[in-house]
Formats: sequence, C-alpha cells, structure tokens
Amino acid sequence: MIVIGAGPAGAAAAMRAAGSGITVTAFEKGAPGRDKVCGDGLTPRAVAALDELGVSLDDAHRIAGLRMIAGQRVRELDWPANGQFGPFGAVWPRRRLDSALCDGAAASGAELCFGTEALPILEDGRAVGVTAGGERWTADLVVLAAGAQGQAARMLGALRDPDEPFGLAIRTYAETPRHAEEYLEACLTLRDPDGTAVPGYGWLFPAGDGTVNIGVGALSTMKGFAKLNLNRLCDSYRDLVADSWQLGPYLERPRAWRLPMSAVRRHGPGWVAIGDAAGLINPMNGEGIDYGLETGILAADLFAADPTAVPDTYDRLVAERFDAFLRTGRRFSFLIGHPRILRTGLRLAVGTDAIARLTLQVMGNLIDNETPGTAGRVLNVADAALAAVSPALRRLHRRRTTRARGTASPNSA
Ligand SMILES: Cc1cc2nc3c(=O)[nH]c(=O)nc-3n(C[C@H](O)[C@H](O)[C@H](O)COP(=O)(O)OP(=O)(O)OC[C@H]3O[C@@H](n4cnc5c(N)ncnc54)[C@H](O)[C@@H]3O)c2cc1C
Repeated sequence: MIVIGAGPAGAAAAMRAAGSGITVTAFEKGAPGRDKVCGDGLTPRAVAALDELGVSLDDAHRIAGLRMIAGQRVRELDWPANGQFGPFGAVWPRRRLDSALCDGAAASGAELCFGTEALPILEDGRAVGVTAGGERWTADLVVLAAGAQGQAARMLGALRDPDEPFGLAIRTYAETPRHAEEYLEACLTLRDPDGTAVPGYGWLFPAGDGTVNIGVGALSTMKGFAKLNLNRLCDSYRDLVADSWQLGPYLERPRAWRLPMSAVRRHGPGWVAIGDAAGLINPMNGEGIDYGLETGILAADLFAADPTAVPDTYDRLVAERFDAFLRTGRRFSFLIGHPRILRTGLRLAVGTDAIARLTLQVMGNLIDNETPGTAGRVLNVADAALAAVSPALRRLHRRRTTRARGTASPNSA
C-alpha cells in the first residue's frame, strides 16, 4: 500500500496497515516534524480514534469541554457523556501530534519518506502507484491523504465540489497565564469590520504548554466572503480577548489554510481518498482530524481484509458513517450564511444550558449511534427541515456569489 501524505489521515492509515502486517510506504513532502495550520483541538470523537490506534495522549493537554460565548451569554459545557465516546478531548499542537502519529507508523513497520512529493501513476484509468523522488513505486492500493485538494487530487479527479461550501481559517499562538485551562473557548458572534455576522467562530484553545492556539474561521457561505480579510478578523478577535486572557504578542505570523468540505470523488480503481483529501471536514465545527483518523483506519482495515475490494466498499462505508451528517452540516452552512438567521439561530442555540448541550452534541457529531436519544432526534428533524429549504438557500447563495464576481476573490479554493 502506498500513502500520499503523512498528516493524521495518512499516518493513521500507514500505522494501522503496517500493524496488520501490510507493506506500507508513506510519502510526505514536508520535513519530519512539519507543522500544519490548525486549531489543534481534538473532540472526544478524535480521542476515541487515537485510542483505537493505541496512541498515548500523555503529551496532549486534556480538555473537559467547551465554553461557548455568544454576545454576553457564556455557557461552560462538559463534553456529552455517552457510551461511544469518552468524557474528554484534548489540545495537541500539530507539530507534536503529527510527529507522534508518524513515529507510531514507523514503529509499526511503515516506511516513511519525508521531503518527498508523490504523484499518482494512472494506467488505463487505474492508479497503479506513484512517482516519488524520481522513481516509480507500484502498489495494489494508493491512499490519497494529501490534505486540502492539490495536484495529486487533480490527477485523480478528487476535487472539491464547486457547488458545496468550504471554510477558511487562520491561526497563531500566544502566551497566556490561562494556558492550563481545561475548556476550549469559542466565540460564536464574530463580526467582520463592516459589522456583518460571520458564520464561523473565533477560538482560544489552551495548549497546556504556556501558550494558547488563537484563530478564527469562516464558511464560504458568508455574505461578503470574497472580501473577507482573515488577518484583520483575527486581529479584531485578539483585541476582544486580549485582556481576559492576558495574551502576549503573537508567537508567529498568523497563517491561514482551507477547510475542504466536499469532494466530487473519493475513490476510483486502485485508489481511495481519506481525511481532507476526501473533503471530510465537519461544516458545523471545522473539525477534520478525527475524520482523517477514522477514514485512515477504515481504508487500512478494508485493505487488510480484502485488497481487491477496497475502493467501492470504502466509499460505501464512508457514506454510511458520515455522508448524512456532513450533508446536514453543509445545508446548515448555507442557512447560517444569512446574517439574520445566524443571529436568531445563535440566540436559540445558547438560550438555555440544556439546548446549548444539545447544540454541542449535534454540531460535534458526538451522538452515540446505539442510543441517539434527544440529540439524534434533533439532528433528524434539523436534517428534514434543512432539506426542505436547502434548494432555495443554494439558489440565493449562487445569485449572491455571481453578483460578487468581478471583485477579485482572494479566497477561491
Ligand atoms: C486554521 C485551521 C484550524 C483547524 N482547526 C482544527 C481543529 O482544531 N481540530 C480539527 O480536528 N481540525 C481542525 N482543522 C482541520 C484539520 O487541520 C484538517 O482536517 C486535518 O489536518 C486533516 O488531516 P489530513 O491528514 O487529511 O491532511 P493534512 O493534515 O493536511 O496532511 C496532508 C499531508 O500531505 C502532505 N502532502 C500533500 N501533497 C503531497 C504529495 N503530493 N506528496 C507527499 N505529501 C503530500 C502535506 O505536506 C501534509 O503533510 C483546522 C484547519 C485549519 C486550516
């Protein structure tokens, strides 16, 4: 098996496959210990996936829940307790998380080639291997784990669906005496400099090492998205929280990256796409690490069971596990692209502790499939309602985007 990219998705696939005795080579174009622009937040769902891989979380900072802030309203919520996921999440700076995963893959017997770009070789429409470091490498399965879609994805036709939303986010680090707090903080009522409500949030994720990860993210369904200046949004969020967190100056220049939330294809003869390469980011909270880990594990397990049937079975199982939820999330993102709806929705979502808890559970995809309970019912009702209004919202969004064209967009993804 060949893996293109050794972020969480690729490293998880390599670790799991090598652990089952499969010969795996993973190519990573970055150097060992490369960093990835990220909020570093792990939900209990991601912690469960790390557990399944046998990765110790000793090096991560443990997180008990989320502090949601909407205007003057503050709700501190513990992660929902259910049978499927444990009661804690974590913040684990990506340089260290990704190194731990790569070390785990190497310890399981995978070969990792850093500083090496790999591009798929297609023969008669089938991926048969990659070219990497000037050489040809062949394998029964090529796993595309190259993150937000780039050249390797273009070659396989695994591109973002232009009719679906995506996200953009920016982050940096700052020192704070509150670095050891056990709650993530998310401000849901961000506004751009023109005063437009931003569908997205500003975050402070304490890393437990003297620093906090600070950033902001927005969905492409936002009114005026093409003109959105993430650096300015990040600075204004920093001004808002600087005193209460006693923040030091930025420790590095804020850096932005894309959050892919769709892919027109995630499998084909001889290949599958996992993680961001498959557009698997939760539109409701921007989480992608877990989906990368889970799909990496799934692809490896299927390959271990039957190397010939992987792509079709993989696509079907990913659909069963994630598609309905992520489709609801994408529909939701068109809805909250309307400032007035966003404001009203937020008032409702954090209106009481009980509703805020449900919001956290639904938006974090932390519903126990065995006993979905109230959160499961809320999700079903929301999906049905969103399905009914979705075509109209998409039409509105398309009209708005067409009108905005002509203004050069720095945000095309
Ligand atoms: C600002 C920001 C904040 C975020 N915050 C969070 C968060 O708090 N929690 C969360 O769960 N998610 C968050 N996300 C999303 C998360 O970062 C991604 O979902 C996650 O990194 C996906 O993992 P991956 O392995 O699929 O891709 P990546 O982590 O992007 O890894 C892909 C790897 O492939 C390598 N690569 C690419 N092309 C090639 C090639 N041709 N050959 C060899 N190597 C290649 C790249 O160098 C890279 O190392 C955030 C994203 C952004 C932008």
